[in-house]
Amino acid sequence: MGYAAQVIALDDVRASQQHQALRQQLHERFDQWLDELELQLPEAELTIRQVSETIWGLRQPLTASVAQTIVEHRYQAEQRRTSLHCATCERLLQARPRVLRTVETLVGAIELERPYFYCRQCQCGRYPLDEVLGLRAGRMQPDVQQAAVDLATEVPYETASTLFGRLSGIPVSSERMHTWTQQVAEGLRVLDVAPSREEIDQRVAQVRAGRFRRPVLVLGIDGAYVPSRPASARGRRPGQARQRARRARWHHEWREAKGLRFYLLDGERIVHVLSWHQIQTEHEVGEALQQVKDAGVIPEEAVRLCVMCDGAEWIWKHVQALFPKACQVLDYYHCAEYLHKVAKAQYGQTVQALEWVEATLTRLYMGKIGTVLGGLRRMQPTSEEALKAIDNCWVYLSDHRGRTDYGKLRRGGYPLGSGGMESSNKCICHVRLKRSGAWWYEESSNQMLALRCAKYNGTFDQVWLFRSLSSGCVHAAFSSTPPMKVL
Ligand SMILES: [Zn+2]
Repeated sequence: MGYAAQVIALDDVRASQQHQALRQQLHERFDQWLDELELQLPEAELTIRQVSETIWGLRQPLTASVAQTIVEHRYQAEQRRTSLHCATCERLLQARPRVLRTVETLVGAIELERPYFYCRQCQCGRYPLDEVLGLRAGRMQPDVQQAAVDLATEVPYETASTLFGRLSGIPVSSERMHTWTQQVAEGLRVLDVAPSREEIDQRVAQVRAGRFRRPVLVLGIDGAYVPSRPASARGRRPGQARQRARRARWHHEWREAKGLRFYLLDGERIVHVLSWHQIQTEHEVGEALQQVKDAGVIPEEAVRLCVMCDGAEWIWKHVQALFPKACQVLDYYHCAEYLHKVAKAQYGQTVQALEWVEATLTRLYMGKIGTVLGGLRRMQPTSEEALKAIDNCWVYLSDHRGRTDYGKLRRGGYPLGSGGMESSNKCICHVRLKRSGAWWYEESSNQMLALRCAKYNGTFDQVWLFRSLSSGCVHAAFSSTPPMKVL
């Protein structure tokens, strides 16, 4: 056996001894836990509920002690560290007395005792163990924060707080959930929540599999009304420490969250690709679309892109500039609304009105827009109201004539209605924002919307990862003043 082989063998032995030692420590912890459990379990007439409740009540101490044992074992050297070079001036620093810190994770509260290093020259303190563990400032660690915000983006903060405490055993106030939500969602833009090109390519490939034609990728653009309160409601009264909404002095309002959604059609099924909803201007929607386009996340050559909307002029303007080759479709059901208005004004609540609408819609459905327009032209208005309705309808259909060839569109597998967009409005905007008594500040609603978009886009984890890497929170954990509590 050569020297190298002996070294390896020695390393193996050492590793095996380490492993044994850790196992031994973990078993000891478990034994202590079992003692506690036996003490707490009722002696007689034990029901399954009692077994479950007792273990549930003790599970955090057990999992926390396992986590703590593993950390202590793995970072023995870091905990015994006696010196460290200053990151700024490279001076050699001597360890100060070890400091106890407790951090809350999903598996429980973990206590860490670690040395502190302080450079007088740079007036900068560090805990190297915190750095290698990636600890964040504050007691609650990102896994707790992410799980809490995950819940808070589904249900009102109060409910989320109650449910979270019950399910995780970790009490987190609704105010705190709100703060974390704000912190992670602040300033999120469309590309922060958009899936990567690779991810979108995969979704396209799934729909494409076994098909002759390229799949239809629909871009829907539409607005949803969300309950808002003006920024002026956020005032501070004298003697009040925290900012509160002044109930009596502001009026709620409904504001339009403008949204865009890319989705694939897979037969009757919709495969979601990307949603972005915000209370924003038309110009900002255009900018968001531009960013999506420039980032190259939409595989335009691998799909048949189709834009579906209700006819708002600004939308077509953006679409025409960014996706000139896309097939443009005017929402069929929106046309139907115009025709119903004509029928009501012209024929009132009569059978004739119904017959006229049905016949006209059928022609439209078959793609006979010329016939429909001609029919409207020949109508003899029965009233001023009818004249107006007919004119409106004629102008609307005539303006969008090229977007109404529903016969051809159906044969091409294109959608006729913007149901996919409506469901995005409902699932992303309405479900969370429209709650009784909830009136949102624009900023808060946009943050909530951004996170909900991330969820539907499948990028919620990515947002957290990105935020914890970019925010510099890791370094914020190292206070520059020497710690007070010294062991
Ligand atoms: Zn220094």
